[in-house]
Amino acid sequence: MNTEAILDKLEELFPDAGCELMYKDPFQLAVAVILAAQATDAGVNKVTPALFEKYEDAQAFRDADLKELEDSVKSIGLYRNKAANIKKMATEVCERHQGKLPSDYDSLIALSGIGRKSANVILSECFKVQRIAVDTHVQRVSGRLGLREESDDVLKCEEKLMAQIPENRWSRAHHLLLFFGRYLCTAKRPQCERCPFTDICVEKKKEKS
Ligand code: SF4
Repeated sequence: MNTEAILDKLEELFPDAGCELMYKDPFQLAVAVILAAQATDAGVNKVTPALFEKYEDAQAFRDADLKELEDSVKSIGLYRNKAANIKKMATEVCERHQGKLPSDYDSLIALSGIGRKSANVILSECFKVQRIAVDTHVQRVSGRLGLREESDDVLKCEEKLMAQIPENRWSRAHHLLLFFGRYLCTAKRPQCERCPFTDICVEKKKEKS
């Protein structure tokens, strides 16, 4: 089964795959992706409605009292660090970009708390640039589906996926692989009995040998 056939199958399994973080504009998505690091989207979505009501834009986050901001996100892991990064990122957006989140990769990754994966998510979601953001789910299932070598790190995985998938499917591929990893081929208890990829699965081949 080639990579495009894998994606076609994933489309059948997850026709509604898409961004699960709630946001109304690019700046809000940047805040949400900072909060989502090593946390679940569902957990982030529990705090962001009230957070975005209290702090409406980059200026409001910049001017926020750090302790109050921490309190608003304290149900999320690493909240102190994340609150500090959000305030810093908001300050940088105000100083460098007149309060609007930039739409180019280099400016995005220059912001506090925004790394390669987050920048790719923002570019893909808000600015309709084709990108494959590789998170822990995408990395894991790419390995199990034989789309990367076991030793490949996140960057190498991203490069290999981009080489195998036509550019017009990159952003969609990110969502499909992520949903597959989040809801079927999970880290600890993959539902192999429901999986259409048992014939090509690297883990299954290991079990047989
Ligand atoms: Fe994942 Fe199981 Fe499918 Fe392999 S067979 S890709 S481990 S769900």
